[in-house]
Amino acid sequence: MIVSTNEPLPLTSSRAEQIFPTLTPAQIRRIAALGRLRATMRGEVLIEQGDSTVPFFVVISGQLEIVRPLGAVETLIALHGPGQFTGEVNMVSGRRALFRARVSKPGEVIELDRQHFIALMQTDAELGEILMRAFILRRVELLAAGVGDAVLLGSNLSAGTLRIKEFLMRNGHPYSYIDLEKDPDVQRMLDNFLIAAGEIPVLICHGQQVLRNPTNQQVADCLGFNDSVEQTHLRDLIIVGAGPAGLAAAVYGASEGLDVLVLETSTPGGQAGSSSKIENYLGFPTGISGMELTGRAYNQAQKFGAQILIAQGRQLARDQKPYIIEVENGAQIPARAVVIATGAEYRKLPLKDLSRFESAGVYYSATFLEAQLCGGEEVIVVGGGNSAGQAAVFLSERTKRVHMLIRSAGLAESMSRYLIRRIEETPAIVMRTHTEIVALEGGDHLESVRWRNSQTGQTEEHRICHVFVMTGAVPNTRWLDGCVVLDAKGFIKTGPDLSPEDLSAARWPLARTPYLLETSLPGVFAVGDVRSGSIKRVASAVGEGSIAISFVHRVLRE
Ligand SMILES: Cc1cc2nc3c(=O)[nH]c(=O)nc-3n(C[C@H](O)[C@H](O)[C@H](O)COP(=O)(O)OP(=O)(O)OC[C@H]3O[C@@H](n4cnc5c(N)ncnc54)[C@H](O)[C@@H]3O)c2cc1C
Repeated sequence: MIVSTNEPLPLTSSRAEQIFPTLTPAQIRRIAALGRLRATMRGEVLIEQGDSTVPFFVVISGQLEIVRPLGAVETLIALHGPGQFTGEVNMVSGRRALFRARVSKPGEVIELDRQHFIALMQTDAELGEILMRAFILRRVELLAAGVGDAVLLGSNLSAGTLRIKEFLMRNGHPYSYIDLEKDPDVQRMLDNFLIAAGEIPVLICHGQQVLRNPTNQQVADCLGFNDSVEQTHLRDLIIVGAGPAGLAAAVYGASEGLDVLVLETSTPGGQAGSSSKIENYLGFPTGISGMELTGRAYNQAQKFGAQILIAQGRQLARDQKPYIIEVENGAQIPARAVVIATGAEYRKLPLKDLSRFESAGVYYSATFLEAQLCGGEEVIVVGGGNSAGQAAVFLSERTKRVHMLIRSAGLAESMSRYLIRRIEETPAIVMRTHTEIVALEGGDHLESVRWRNSQTGQTEEHRICHVFVMTGAVPNTRWLDGCVVLDAKGFIKTGPDLSPEDLSAARWPLARTPYLLETSLPGVFAVGDVRSGSIKRVASAVGEGSIAISFVHRVLRE
């Protein structure tokens, strides 16, 4: 085995003490009371990369080295001395270990099994805070350094590569990326793993398993995202969707003692996770990126014991109690109550060839990831709502010019005042009213766009390779297959919005009327953007998700 470096990864020095804190003797005594003291031998592997049940270790004497094995090469990630401890975010989520922990100097450690570790996190507020902060910061460092248990080989010109990058990034999973277009060593890597260039994107998990152009579900399975989630036992509550509404329900439900499982098709964070900067969420006067906000909520939910399964809810069986939710791998998960928080999906432009350019020039979110792909060129933002306005302002700082295309005569009716003012004050944003895209052209990537002014009838063609579509959303309710009452646009009706006719058509079985946020099925709630009449904002989604839990308690007592 070759150790590629003797120096641990460079860290953000200002935060080194928070990333690798040294615990006080009193703190160590509290941990020791829950675990066992044991001797260690030089070279002993305490945690192997890919292990699924990972204990927590505090070093009393000696030293541990954390290394990433990849093929025949090991990279040193960190060294833990006396008073320091192992682990990062996976300790909390129960996912597989990213790295190997080995004894580099013999001595003694305290070992805590997972059950006692979770109990410690939930009951010792001081240690819970120190550990959680260290784990999150360690993960942030790994993401920034591009070091994890997966290597992605691909090209920024390939839609499949961008899909997997987004899936890993928004799941907060660290990985290394090798770009076939730019990296001269790629051929050696491809030869090593017997991969033909046409099979990209390729994901190498744990240095061994090779996936050729995998689906998101295959990536999740290979990296063990769902390993720790038991998929058959009866839950108090299943939450479908991990956007702000679902995550809020998970935090409140789990912190109030409910056994909570969250199902998420793709990446936690929902639409909010694709927002570059949320400026109107209470408590963040300088704004916060949607990914950061929802990433924190995701960790918070897991800290309280909520489990998250990356899988699509396919069906809700309404005719039995407990309810059964079927997920895409066929598992049928029973639940005493259900919160539907499946939000909404981006509306697509009615253009031939649109799908060919999705992630290859056409994007539905404007974060740093997409901005990097634009490389200072001209871009188009389509739409006149707040999400379009935010995207335009964000992109105007990172690209040469932003053409904002809207069908109507102005923004006043669809956008918040503060954003309209920001757009008016930004010379790099060019407003084009009464304008619609009529054609997209290009090869593997979008190369030019034709737009038409509906008032003058004039058509123009521009060599622009990046279009951000921000034209609103339609509710994710198709999977419910009519088992709850919907409004004319497909959003779920709840509480007082359900008329006596709705309830009688749905065969509402109880003497009481539905609670606030309860659907036409007793014990099944709908929150956030998927709910009829909801205010499409992060704060209201979070509010509804948390309020729903008080009604879930009532239903569980009935
Ligand atoms: C680019 C952008 C910027 C925005 N900026 C702001 C802002 O600055 N301020 C603000 O207040 N609001 C903003 N919004 C609106 C805000 O993000 C939404 O109102 C909020 O995210 C709604 O939360 P939600 O949880 O109800 O739904 P969503 O965020 O839509 O989340 C739903 C989740 O459910 C999952 N899902 C769907 N179907 C299934 C299924 N069958 N099984 C499992 N999972 C499923 C989805 O993958 C998704 O993760 C923005 C929206 C966008 C798109």
